[in-house]
Amino acid sequence: MTFGERLNHLLANFRHVDESFFDDLEETLIGADVGFEMAMQISEQLRDEVKLQNAKKPKDVQNVVVQKLIEIYDAAGAEENNQLTFAKEGLTVILFVGVNGVGKTTTIGKMANRFKKQGKKVLLAAADTFRAGAIEQLNVWAERDGVDIVKKPEKSDPSAVVFDALKKAKAENYDILFVDTAGRLQNKANLMNELAKMKRVISREVPEAPHEVLLVLDATTGQNALTQAKLFKETTDVTGIVLTKLDGTARGGIVLAIRNELHLPVKYVGLGEQVDDLRPFEPSEFIYGLFK
Ligand code: GDP
Repeated sequence: MTFGERLNHLLANFRHVDESFFDDLEETLIGADVGFEMAMQISEQLRDEVKLQNAKKPKDVQNVVVQKLIEIYDAAGAEENNQLTFAKEGLTVILFVGVNGVGKTTTIGKMANRFKKQGKKVLLAAADTFRAGAIEQLNVWAERDGVDIVKKPEKSDPSAVVFDALKKAKAENYDILFVDTAGRLQNKANLMNELAKMKRVISREVPEAPHEVLLVLDATTGQNALTQAKLFKETTDVTGIVLTKLDGTARGGIVLAIRNELHLPVKYVGLGEQVDDLRPFEPSEFIYGLFK
């Protein structure tokens, strides 16, 4: 069952708002990876609100739950902007970071398609020169999307790939450059140096770039995703999250946990493996969507 289905099930099947209802709610929230503290906080606030509004009928309690989740979500990061930042003029550079297997390459493929459809001239940089197959996989997406790609042989210096891509992007007036990077978290110092070097190369060529550093996280890994996020935040200036594999996961509550613990906005969500399965993240739509 997805997070929404579990919440719906709980809300549809209770008879009285009593201790066991709140127990079940806490269990559902924890199971959905909202995080223990946040689950307790939500449950406390709901107790008060349910009392205050004298909500007894399931529909009324459900409304309180929805209102409260949105309120808590908003309060956790009212200053956060979940829109992508673009260059005021000229080239926009977006760097993608994250460990292997989270869906980085797939996300870039989907996003390139999305912006190409909007009439943008998109270039990809295959700067994950470390993982075997990563360059070819991005190349397949480039061909499928009909966008250009800059690549070098495996094990090349990622910054050299980025440098070539920036030169091309500027010379040929591209609107957006998406940079795929390697995610070697087991060697944090190395990763940190590599990302720092790449960022230096980028900002030397395009002041104010990169405009975004998007951390890609796999929702199905639950609290592990949160741990990865904390490490990446220490490694580089992450500006936002793309949360993949939210299709069919019981762990959608990770969205709330990311907001509450990391104070990073989720900007896009991945809802499947196909090219159209990527959506800008709309917080209230997401929370209302849980109860459909
Ligand atoms: P990378 O190593 O981070 O570049 O990850 P990939 O892009 O290669 O993705 C790893 C696997 O996850 C692939 O099989 C993708 O098809 C799959 N994947 C990526 N995004 C999603 C998503 O939103 N939903 C689902 N169900 N699968 C996804």
